[in-house]
Amino acid sequence: MNIDYAQRIKRLPPYLFKEIDRMKDEVRARGVDIIDLGVGDPDLPTTDNVIDALTTAVRDPATHRYPSYSGMNLFREAAARWYKRRFDVDLDAATEVIALIGSKEGIANIPLAFIDPGDVLLHSSPCYPVYHSSTLFAGGQPYPMDLTARNDFLPDLGAVPQEILDRAKMMFVNYPNNPTAACCGLDFFREVAEFGRKNNIIVCHDAAYTEMYYDDFVPPSFLQVEGAKEVGVEFHSLSKTYNMTGWRLGFAVGHPEVIAGLGKVKSNIDSGAFNAIQIAGVEALAGDQSAVKEMQSIYRERRNILVQGLKELGLEVELPKATFYVWVKTPKSHDSASFAKLLLEKAGVVVTPGAGFGQAGEGYVRFALTVDKARIGDAAKRIKECMSA
Ligand SMILES: *Cc1c(COP(=O)(O)O)cnc(C)c1O
Repeated sequence: MNIDYAQRIKRLPPYLFKEIDRMKDEVRARGVDIIDLGVGDPDLPTTDNVIDALTTAVRDPATHRYPSYSGMNLFREAAARWYKRRFDVDLDAATEVIALIGSKEGIANIPLAFIDPGDVLLHSSPCYPVYHSSTLFAGGQPYPMDLTARNDFLPDLGAVPQEILDRAKMMFVNYPNNPTAACCGLDFFREVAEFGRKNNIIVCHDAAYTEMYYDDFVPPSFLQVEGAKEVGVEFHSLSKTYNMTGWRLGFAVGHPEVIAGLGKVKSNIDSGAFNAIQIAGVEALAGDQSAVKEMQSIYRERRNILVQGLKELGLEVELPKATFYVWVKTPKSHDSASFAKLLLEKAGVVVTPGAGFGQAGEGYVRFALTVDKARIGDAAKRIKECMSA
């Protein structure tokens, strides 16, 4: 029997982390104590109030049945109230909010509602790889807008050729940004909203990291821009804010017809997030928020230790204002893969090569602040030793 993958699978870019994964196993087999700063998955636990809400909810048989496609009213109302409190944005919970099985699910599904073969989807690059693959799955053409240090890691919207604009139907942007840790203010979001309106492009803003911030800068929502709700939607996730990556819960908010389009796709693919998890999500969004402040202070400390250590080595790195990533320029003699390889083999430290997030990420590696500060300190020390050797 001949097993032949569909074109949409064949067209996926090669998995660039495969080589790192293989080397990680090899180095670990040598008995090296690996410090893994590769994956963007919080090491902090979900808080007790959320766990308690789940355990109570899961004992109620009413939660055991199929959820509603767009999410429980209770959850959508909690999301709307959270937006009002955090961003002063008004949302109609019935038509402008949809629950997601993690925001990745919504990001992966939304192009299926709007992108036809031949349509273009613009996305920032380097990026969360799902923007690219979900476009390919919908038969669309991804068009990367490069983020460079020269442009403060903001896409140059004016540089997109007219021929591409004519075919573009949707765009993805993401601030605070993974992997570059760059932030933007409302000025840039205003520019994006205007660009979307003028060119009839649905704007999708991925807001996974708006609560992971450290200094005076408080990341805004795209929906805070006047009229933004008429051009797009924003994806939000409980994963990073509340240490709930494994729970799979997020939501999208914004333009009612865009939300409805995503709902049409979802109702044919999944049957919604488990009600007990949505009830726990209500507790996360509406309950005591002090754990968010604690999370920020933990990452702030880790960030300071790592950035200080890397700067002492003469590496080119900015102190990130948000996200739990540090985006570091590779030394001149290395590309991103060879520098990641060096750090793994000589220091036992796993980082992610920037090229794995798109060609524009070449020349950088990403550190994730997902181990405790003592281990972060060890990582910095080991890197120092290996680079001065
Ligand atoms: C982690 C992450 C997400 C999604 O997380 P979910 O767990 O699916 O909610 C989305 N976008 C970016 C940029 C991320 O880093």
